[in-house]
Amino acid sequence: MHSRVDLRSDTVTRPTAAMREAMMAAPLGDDVFGDDPTVNALQRRIADLTGKEAALFMPSGTQSNLCGILAHCGRGDEYIVGQQAHAYRYEGGGAAAFGGVQPQPLTQDERGCMKLADIASAIKPDDPHFARTRLLCLENTWGGQVMSDAYLRSATRLARERGLATHLDGARVFNAAVASAAPGQSAMARLREICDDFDSISVCFSKGLGAPMGSALCGSRDLIESARRLRKMAGGGLRQAGLMAACAIHALDHHIDRLAEDHDNAHRLAEGLEDIDGLTVRSAETNMVFVDVADGLGPALIGFLEANDVLATGMTGLRFVTHMQVDAAGVDRAIETVRRFFAEAP
Ligand SMILES: *Cc1c(COP(=O)(O)O)cnc(C)c1O
Repeated sequence: MHSRVDLRSDTVTRPTAAMREAMMAAPLGDDVFGDDPTVNALQRRIADLTGKEAALFMPSGTQSNLCGILAHCGRGDEYIVGQQAHAYRYEGGGAAAFGGVQPQPLTQDERGCMKLADIASAIKPDDPHFARTRLLCLENTWGGQVMSDAYLRSATRLARERGLATHLDGARVFNAAVASAAPGQSAMARLREICDDFDSISVCFSKGLGAPMGSALCGSRDLIESARRLRKMAGGGLRQAGLMAACAIHALDHHIDRLAEDHDNAHRLAEGLEDIDGLTVRSAETNMVFVDVADGLGPALIGFLEANDVLATGMTGLRFVTHMQVDAAGVDRAIETVRRFFAEAP
């Protein structure tokens, strides 16, 4: 009897036994009063890890990005963001709906980068015709890909020179840090380097790190104080949130370096899929593998996989995401199932 191999997302992980124990042992208080020692410890810890003055625990990454954007921008301001970026495309238009902040989405290349010239020309002059351009928002990893230091540095420098603040949607920035640490460099040291160029950064504990929920917004003390008010307005002021913060602390203690295993498994998957006729591996970095399937077979393949207890997402392009509850044997079963589909395909 095999178990299900769920490659839909790294959000599907369930807390480990050790994480549940950490949760049960956590000292608690009322975080709206600032009284939860476990939340406070997590906030201190993630602020230090990202090299920022302060941090705020949030229920979700969407709320972190929303409160981050609204802390940087007021009504009638705008933020520059990728056309395919999560903080534009996948967050329900929250910044516009709740904050009166206009997004200025720009085309990205296949690595998620907006052209510097496009960013420069999207920054509006101070003129009543225009929204006030206040913020540049980048995302790392993007589609599983680690953004180059050269790009991060030049894009954030451009923003700074033009008076814009910078925000990094770092939902999977721990994957980026682990994947791009220099030989002998710790993931933590690498993380600080990546975050250094940004005024604020949001991270997720509920993706590869394997906590049941939670995110943090990190930045200057002033920015985080504004974000605390915004989080309250958004309904994100939680009480004994230490239960969830304990899971995040446990994840920071035990689940960062192991992301390398997820990356190895994604490579194993990509290699196994590469020589199957009928599909093309489009990109395979960190913990994500994107595959193009010929002849509109995508939905049939998804269905076949599901019938064989292998879950993925997509239509013509399929996405497979590895995480702590997928092992090499699971990856091999996924490869074998895809191979069988194409062997039997009409
Ligand atoms: C998952 C994710 C978020 C936040 O999503 P939530 O589901 O709200 O936690 C933000 N940005 C990126 C790039 C993500 O992948």
